[in-house]
Amino acid sequence: MPVLEVRNLKKYFPVRRSIKEFLTAKPPRFVRAVDDISFSIEKREIFALVGESGCGKTTTAKLVMRLLEPTSGNILFNGNDITKIDEKEYRRKVQMVFQDPYASMNPRFRVYDVLEEPLLIAGVEDRKEREERIMKALEAVRVSPPSEFVHRFPHQLSGGQRQRVAFARAIILNPEFIVADEPVSMLDLSVRAEILNLMEEIRDKYNVTYLYITHDLSTARYMSNRIAVMYLGKIVEMADSDSLVEKPLHPYTKALISAVPEPDPRMRDVIKEIPVKGEVPSAINIPSGCRFHPRCPYAFDRCIREEPELKQVESGHFVACHLY
Ligand code: SF4
Repeated sequence: MPVLEVRNLKKYFPVRRSIKEFLTAKPPRFVRAVDDISFSIEKREIFALVGESGCGKTTTAKLVMRLLEPTSGNILFNGNDITKIDEKEYRRKVQMVFQDPYASMNPRFRVYDVLEEPLLIAGVEDRKEREERIMKALEAVRVSPPSEFVHRFPHQLSGGQRQRVAFARAIILNPEFIVADEPVSMLDLSVRAEILNLMEEIRDKYNVTYLYITHDLSTARYMSNRIAVMYLGKIVEMADSDSLVEKPLHPYTKALISAVPEPDPRMRDVIKEIPVKGEVPSAINIPSGCRFHPRCPYAFDRCIREEPELKQVESGHFVACHLY
């Protein structure tokens, strides 16, 4: 059974109507941030959701965290609908690491307080036990020496150290699942690999499963077992990481890959540059048919009329495109 299963998930945000729209009784409009997506994540898997900003990946993360209510669809955790699971229990088992750990930490809290807070909320009353768990979590994320580190404030830490503390806070309640939303995008290149390696170490040590949200296909490939590419609220391609990067099928995935500098000269020949036109359209006015058609160099008549379904074209490789 998958740890997490997302079924036909939708999240539409209503757009405020102008007085003119109200008076002329124009129908309400919606931002279709997440528009009918399905995927599942197996135990200890690192599943990456990749796309440009505004594609719906962070909204998906918030829906999984129960920070937003879906418009429709279900999210199952270990086979149970998350809305039926006790909220406190769910928050213990499913943790989130944010892009900017500084914004998610109280600047007046020392590292000790930052890590103690979830233990207090979870009802760990014994002070000695809390102290031991804090030290253990800091050792697990490799900050040293933890006994000195706990007295620091967030502003006294480097970006990498702050993200280590964010991971310590995420693992302190022994979660089963971590949603990591762009956890390295604000870090210097030199620190990124360290934090990505730390995520893998945590997976191995704590048997954690990850939903890894990123705009960066290269870290997604490095980190994850499978990748799903999102475009304007839809998953357009999903496959194991190597297949998706080495043999992309969807024109949008090809364009994303061709935009990443490729150090391997053999791959430069495989991935030719794809001339994608224009900007991402607004999620309020989603194009008819295939929502990528205004930008797609291969678009033909059917693409304007008919929305392609995400279908399996090779073992474990899914794509939503009329070319396949
Ligand atoms: Fe391009 Fe048509 Fe495929 Fe959409 S369905 S990606 S427009 S070829």
